[in-house]
Order: sequence, then structure tokens, then C-alpha cells
Amino acid sequence: MSKIRVLPDHVSNQIAAGEVVERPASVAKELVENSIDAGATRISIEIEGGGRRLLKVSDDGEGMVRDDAVLAFERHATSKIRNTNDLNSIATLGFRGEALASIASVARVELTTQTTDATAGTRVTKDGGKMRDVKDAAHPRGTTLAIRDLFFNVPARRKFLRSEATETFHLTNLVTHYALAHPEIAFTFTNNGREVLHATAANDLRERAYQVFGQDFLDNLLEVDGGDAQVARVTGYISAPRDRRTSRDSQYLFVNRRFVRDRLIGRALSEGYRSVLPHGVYPAALLFIEIPLEEVDVNVHPAKTEVRFRRAAAVADAVRESVRDALASAGFVHEEREPDTGRHREGETGGRVGGEMGGRGDAVGASAAAVGAADFTARPPSQTEVSYSPTTIDSENIRGEFNLRPDYQPPSQSKIDFASLMTSVGEALEEETRREEEDGENGGRGEAEKDPVSLSPSPPVSHSPSQPVPPSPRPPVSSSLPPLNSAEKFAREVTPESLSSNIRPLGQLEESFIIATDDEGLLLIDQHVAHERVLFDKYRALEGERRSESQQLLVPETFDLTPAQAAVFDQLAPELENYGFELMRLSGRTVAIKATPADLPASEARNMLAELLDTVDSEKKNTARETLRDEIAASLACHAAIKVNMPLAPEKMRWLIDRLLQTSSPTTCPHGRPVILRLKTRDILKGFHRI
Ligand code: ADP
Ligand code: MG
Repeated sequence: MSKIRVLPDHVSNQIAAGEVVERPASVAKELVENSIDAGATRISIEIEGGGRRLLKVSDDGEGMVRDDAVLAFERHATSKIRNTNDLNSIATLGFRGEALASIASVARVELTTQTTDATAGTRVTKDGGKMRDVKDAAHPRGTTLAIRDLFFNVPARRKFLRSEATETFHLTNLVTHYALAHPEIAFTFTNNGREVLHATAANDLRERAYQVFGQDFLDNLLEVDGGDAQVARVTGYISAPRDRRTSRDSQYLFVNRRFVRDRLIGRALSEGYRSVLPHGVYPAALLFIEIPLEEVDVNVHPAKTEVRFRRAAAVADAVRESVRDALASAGFVHEEREPDTGRHREGETGGRVGGEMGGRGDAVGASAAAVGAADFTARPPSQTEVSYSPTTIDSENIRGEFNLRPDYQPPSQSKIDFASLMTSVGEALEEETRREEEDGENGGRGEAEKDPVSLSPSPPVSHSPSQPVPPSPRPPVSSSLPPLNSAEKFAREVTPESLSSNIRPLGQLEESFIIATDDEGLLLIDQHVAHERVLFDKYRALEGERRSESQQLLVPETFDLTPAQAAVFDQLAPELENYGFELMRLSGRTVAIKATPADLPASEARNMLAELLDTVDSEKKNTARETLRDEIAASLACHAAIKVNMPLAPEKMRWLIDRLLQTSSPTTCPHGRPVILRLKTRDILKGFHRI
């Protein structure tokens, strides 16, 4: 007897639903995309019970005539493409014609729609894929889809849904994405009867971001505008290096206005921040990548959140360089220098700090000139944190008609508000992102059930000088680290453009911080990170010129690699040799260090290697060369730099400051930490009640 059968429609729809409908947010995604494709100018999303009990999307788009309203639920029924040629240049968000069929097979669905021409509207009701009713119904032009009891007939999938708060977070994140991608469309979002987002049609992304996140957020973003139309145009906003996130939740990436979760772009974005942001922390970003339609394949995944680029490397380059340019024009990094006149060559070692009072380069002048799009000096630093925290959208920030309603109430356990969701709930997505990045390594591990509402908000993190960012799967949380602005009340991070050459060292605090003055006030310079920056630039320059200096060890140091370290050793070894290491793989996993870079104390070499081999784990094999080199240089610099708790003679301090001013980024260390804090004379005067 034959054993192969063609599955009935309702079974194949449910199977397809497994791919398209993962959770309420994926249903919302399909519905919102349909509304956008229908030319809506207003979309409202209403949810109850985390989208499980009710998920309703209404639009004022073109609507459907009765026949279409019925047909829309058929599998592969679409109005958006006609033939395979159309697949090569898809301009609509939908095209597979399977979303409504899939959704209807796993929920109770009510579609109400009306076109401009029709005399009456239509209502179609379906339960678990079965047609219940088709009748006339009143509806203004447009379409409303109400989805109730998601997965009511698929208990196995219902089990995978998370808490109401987590599902609500995903929905909120999704609405935010689409609201940002389509400023011209008005969006409202209502959760359990309370309106949490109300954004009227905006003129551009800037205005929309303002509606969604508030003014502070915008003030502190750097504008990105790069790439080229043939390969990829990259526009949008990114955060300054001092703003850090422990997850990618604050990254909103779009390809041709389609919301994507793309690792290639995420990684390119991070690489743009090389040497100014440490591993394991992420910038915030709203990036729009416009690529010629035929250069990108969106038909890779049923949920269409993955795309494939024909020229992936070129797209990654465009993103990385556009980000880099934005950072450079704001003075956070300098364009890569030409290998130069040996300025970097002179005695810049921890052991040999001293004596030399070398002339200043022009770096400071350049950085002063490079005041970027973001005007950092004009505002007190308490506002300079880019933040999605609840304070960004508090009642004071309500301007005009957008945003939270006047009846806005502070976050409470029972209600979920938009703003706090954006920060406090990172958990679920964070977990997912991490799992994605771990490349299925921990694939079997279930997503921990969390009740995000009860989690404390996670503000940007900073890292104390003695703690390099651990490459742990769980990034440090705010409670264990001081918030970045903790010192701000008194001494503030110095911006590159406010730096002058007129810095005079006075002495040391705790044998760790150089006390100095400049024209604006009192400076505190972290001697370790300052030297780290100096050495980092030096290593990068020497490596570029392939003339690293090494010191031979009298007795080679041997050490054993862990299996994970061994896996990356071969990839890393040639790069390390460019920096002056001489390494030899002995039997098995034993390695001998025969020579080390000139500045690196032999005792540090081993630690440094182990640390580096652990950070650059095998999963990052595809890390761009430049990024890898930056990592090596940063690690070298850290281990070779003057430590804290070390007395410095006045001329050593002088030397260090002069060197620092010549570096590419005197105010940020290669790990993204601040190098100099300033207490302004004005604030001192105020403190003494003299003004
Ligand atoms: P796709 O979007 O891939 O075409 P869907 O299953 O999502 O497939 O939708 C099927 C069809 O139903 C669409 O092609 C469109 O013609 C119609 N449709 C769905 N939602 C709407 C809407 N909100 N307004 C107008 N038409 C819609
Ligand atoms: Mg669709």
C-alpha cells in the first residue's frame, strides 16, 4: 500500500504557521506589514494579554472587496506578485501569500474590510482555519484584523509562549521598529486598554524618533550618512561611544525599510566602533540600509527577518565605514593615519616613560575642528546619555500630542508602559540575540522565563578600569557597575573638542590619576587608560608599517592552551607575530613564547595571550581583520601600560599628557572608557558661591 499522502490544507497551513507564527509579535509583524503594503496612513495596534487573548490591527489602507477578503486566507494567495520574475525585485513587505492562511489556522480570526468603491464592507470570521461566516459589515475604508486566542488549537505551541510581559515586550519592540521605519504613517499602540504610543504622521525619522524616544535621545545621537546607492546607502543615527548597552535591543536595523535581524549588519556596526567600544557592549543605532532591490534576496526565511545580500562584504564595508565616518566627524575617532615620521617610535614604554618632552602634533587641533553633528558641549552631561530609560519619556518630556498620554502613570507592576518596556525588558531579546550569536552552541538551553516588568531597568553600563569586560554570556548588570554618569555631577567626561594643548600636570591622586589644569578647569587623567590609548595608537601604527620591535626571552615561556584557545591559536598567531610576538606551537596544545613585543613585560605576555585567545573565540572566526588587529593592539596596550598605584615623576606625567594629545582619540581609551574628567572652574566657583 502506498504510504505518501498529500496533507490536507489545514494541516499544511499549521505547519507553515510554525515558521511564520512564532509568537504574537510575529503575527503583529505580518499584519502591520500588510497594512503598510495596503498604503495605510494610520495603523493602530491593540493587544490584550500579551497578544494572546487579542491582537488587533486596524488600518485605513485600500481595503479588500468581498472576494478578496475570502481569498486572502488561501495559502499562496497574494496580490503582490504574479510570477517568479517579480521575486527578483520585491518592493512590498509581503509577497509569500501565506501569512493570513497560517495565522488563521492557529487562532480565531475576524477580518473586517471596506474599499472606497464597495457599497458595503465585509466581515469574514474563521476559527482554526475553518470558515465560520462571511457577511456585510460596516467599516470605514481600510481593514481590521482581530486575532483572538492565538494557538488555542495547538497546545504544543501555546506552551512555548512566554509570560505576558515578555510577549508584550516583543510586541512593543516590533511596533517601535515599524513606527521608526515609517515616520509618514501614524501609529497608535494600546496595551490592555491603555494607549502607550501615539505618534502622528511625522516628516522624517528625526521627528519620529523624537515622538518615540524623546528629545534627550536625539540630542545625543550622531548622524550617519554614508555608503553609495549602487551598493548600499547607509543613513540613520548611532550613539556616542560613551553610551553602552548590554544587548542589541537598542539597535534598529532596516534593509529597504524592512525590519531585519541581521548578523552581518550588526557585526559591521560593532566593527565601526572598533577601538572605542569594548567587547560585549553595544551601541544604540537606528540604521537604514538602502540596497538596490535586485541586490538583496528577502525570500530567505518565511518570517522575512533574514535577508541575503548579493554582495555581502561590500554591504558590511559600507555599514562599517559609514559608522566610522560618523564617529570620526564627531571627533571620537580619527581617520586612520598615514604611517608617519616615527613620531610613534620614540620611547613609549611603561618602563621607559620619562624625559622626553616631545612636541605636540596637530591631533588636538584636528579634533577641535571635528565637532560633529551632535553638539555635545552645549548641554550639561546629565543629558548626554543616550537613553531609552523611563526618564526619557516621563511626564516632563511630553511635548505636544505625541507619546504617552497625559494620563500617563508611572510604571507599575500591573501596567506595562512603553518607555520602561524599552529598557527594562531587554531580557528576552537579549537572550535570543545571544543565542543567535552563540551560533547554536547552547541551542538546547531553553529561554529562561523572566518577568521583565519586575526587572530593574538596565541603564548603560560602564566598566571600572580594573575590570575588562568579561566575555561571559551574561553581561555585567548595572548593579555591579557604577552608571556612567556617576561622577558627572562634579567631574565630567571631557569631550574631544574641548581639549586644548594647554594642560599642566600638578601631581597625582592616589598614585593613579594625574591632577592637571587646563583653560577650563581641573582635570583628572586616568594614567593607566591614558597610556593605554598612547600604546594602542603606537601598536596600530607600527603594525601598519610592519616594523614591530620585539624582545627575545632568555628562556622561552611555555604554556598550555585550553581546547578552545587551541582552536583560535592558529588564526591569531600570524597576527600576533606582526606585533612582535614570536610563538611556537610545541607538541599538542603547548605553546612557547620566544619573544614578546618590546614594551610588554615578559610576565604579562602569558596573561595577555590567554586573555586574547579567550576573547577571540572560535565563533568570531569571521571577525574582520581590522577588528582583530584592534583587539590585539588594545590587549597589548592594556598589559603594557603604566598601572594604577604607580608613582610618576612630573616629567613622566608631562610626557604622558603630550603623547596622549597626539593620539587619534585622546578622550577615549581603546576599550571605550573615558580618559579625562574635568571639573570646570565655573562649577568650582559655583560650589564656593562665588557666582
Ligand atoms: P502577502 O502579504 O504575502 O501577500 P498575506 O497572507 O499576508 O500575504 O495576505 C494576503 C493578501 O491579502 C495580500 O496579498 C493582500 O492582497 C490582502 N491583504 C492582507 N491584509 C490586508 C490589508 N490590511 N489591507 C488590504 N489588503 C490586505
Ligand atoms: Mg503579508
